[in-house]
Amino acid sequence: MEILFYFFAAITFGGGIGYVIGKTRSRGSEGFLLGLLLGPIGWIITLLIPAGGAKCPECMGDVPYGARRCKNCGVDFGKRIAPAPDSSAFFVIVNDKTQGPFTLPHLRYLIKDKKITRETLCAKVGDTEWIPVGDFL
Ligand SMILES: [Zn+2]
Repeated sequence: MEILFYFFAAITFGGGIGYVIGKTRSRGSEGFLLGLLLGPIGWIITLLIPAGGAKCPECMGDVPYGARRCKNCGVDFGKRIAPAPDSSAFFVIVNDKTQGPFTLPHLRYLIKDKKITRETLCAKVGDTEWIPVGDFL
């Protein structure tokens, strides 16, 4: 029975280390799975897959989407860093009506066209938090 214990301990350990490695690159869940299944090989793969999240405008380090502060250089973004790649879609509230979803480039166009303003509230699809459009641009 002891051998089983060590077996499971090793698997859990592999997943845990994988998670820690993945977490630094916004890939915690992938790191956990890879470490769990492949052990040290999974850790290496975790290090090789492209990091998730956004890039810090100051140091170009990796920052998780929605972070307010860079964990690499400590710069405070002041507002939410753009949490969405351009493919993400947003709903906006115009004249008390929800419209969309629109992509970020589309939102920029709507502002330029004066259909909405930077203060218009929007929510990322799948998100319940309404934030001024300007915070995403
Ligand atoms: Zn930074």
